[in-house]
Parts: sequence; structure tokens; C-alpha cells
Amino acid sequence: MMIDRRAILAVSVWLWAIWLFSPASAADTDTPSEETAQSATFTYHREVLANYELISEEGISDEHHDKMLRYLRWVEKYAEEHLGFAATGKITVIFTKERTFRDYTGANAHINGLFDGRIHLPTFLPEEQETLFKSVLLHEYTHAAARELSAGACPKWVEEGFTEYAESTLGPRENPTLGRYVAARGELPYTWDAIDNIFDNILTAEPVKVELAYAQSYAAVAGLYANYSKRQLRTFLEKIGRLHDVEKALDGAFGISYVGLTRLALRHSAPATITPKKHPKKRGAATLVSQPPKR
Ligand SMILES: [Zn+2]
Repeated sequence: MMIDRRAILAVSVWLWAIWLFSPASAADTDTPSEETAQSATFTYHREVLANYELISEEGISDEHHDKMLRYLRWVEKYAEEHLGFAATGKITVIFTKERTFRDYTGANAHINGLFDGRIHLPTFLPEEQETLFKSVLLHEYTHAAARELSAGACPKWVEEGFTEYAESTLGPRENPTLGRYVAARGELPYTWDAIDNIFDNILTAEPVKVELAYAQSYAAVAGLYANYSKRQLRTFLEKIGRLHDVEKALDGAFGISYVGLTRLALRHSAPATITPKKHPKKRGAATLVSQPPKR
């Protein structure tokens, strides 16, 4: 079920602050080199690339490895073009066999990627579904880039709004539960602080609440992208990092308050799916589409 899948997926973002993977040589990240070493759980090959540190589990096929390199180049260009920003610092990507991924993260079968400051991806993805792989990589990459731009000061709803928006640029995103909620009540389910509370307690929160929290975060950021320039969205993240105050950042980047943001999110929530528009500010181009459950 979609709700369950979303809830389980949600775990991916916030629960891995304490993780079991601890590469023995994580400290010397400045060395431009390749090496093989042993982490707590597996043997890996480490490469320092221009914008990434890629840690690949030993035994991953050349085909998987090459595909990963190709998509890492793709994702930064894609993010720059579609989001208006990309990461400038080096991002660590940990690429393991699926079984290893599940062992060291504890992730169940519905979780296909994690971000805890580093991107974690299992190999089964490109093998089975390139589209899904791109989507998951883009989601996790957007976490990294948004966190970097905001100097780690993004509230979770902002970060997830960006990651969900990023994914929606690859294919339509469905918001049926939020659409129904808004259609029935004429208001959003949560205050912005309440969304972060849900993300903070994602393991124990009801799945439907988690789904709504993601959907509302997405609706807000999609609304911003539809009405303002990518440059302003980027400025928004930078201002969050400087001001540590979302409302001031909203005002500085867009000249709106939380009230304005809520209005935008409402417009992008109801009645059902709204596909992000290619041309910002043009109205009425919403498309209803169905999408198979992701991740
Ligand atoms: Zn996420």
C-alpha cells in the first residue's frame, strides 16, 4: 500500500544519524586516491572524485559501478537545471549490494536509499529499474545539496519539500490523500512546526500522518517553484542558513510570510495531483495522473 510504503520510506531520511557503517579510512578524505579497505561490515573500494567520495562495496560489478558514475554526473547537472542549485562540496556516496545495505542500515525492502549526511544506495536499483534509481538518487542528492546551501539549518519540512519536488520533476507526483483532506476541510493538515514534529517521530507516527507531512511539504515547495524563480528558491535556502529563521527567509527571498506560504501550499494541494508546470506562473495546467507507488 502506498501509505505504508511512504511511511516506511520516510524512515530513510531521519533515522540513520546513528549508523553502523564506519569506514576505517573515513578521515583522510582529501587524498585523491583509490584504495580498498574494510569497514565494520564490509570490504569496500574508495574513490575520490571531483565532487564525490564514492565508496563501493567490493564485488559490485563494473556495470553497476559505471552506471553509478554516470548517474552521479547526471544528478548534479540535473539538479542545477531543474532546482536551480547543486552541491558544491564533496558528497560521500556509499554503494553496496542490496543485502549489505539492508544489513548495515536495518532498512526493509521498501527503502531504496538513505541520507544521513552521506548518500546510501543499494546496487539492485539500477539493475531493476533505472527510473527508480534516478529518482532515489535525485531525492537523496537534493537532501545533500539543500542541506549544504542552508548550512544544515533547514527545517525538515523544507528539506523534504525540496526532495519531493525534485522527484516530481522526473514524473508526476500524486497527492491524493492531501487533496482529499484539503477538499474536505479547506485547510492544510498541519502547521509547519507540526510537520517537523512528525518527521522527528517518524517511526511512531501514524503512516497517514507521515504521508500528509510529505505531501504538505511538497505542496509548499512546488507552490514556490511555480510562482517564483529558481534563483529565489536558492536564495531561500541560503537565507535559512544565514538567518536561521524560515519566516524571515521567506520574506527575504519571496516577500511572503507563513500565511502566504500556506496559501500557496493550499493551492498546490487540492483537489488532487498537480503536476509541476514547465512554465512558472501559468495557471491551469494541472494534470491528473496516476503513478505506481515509489520506493
Ligand atoms: Zn527525503
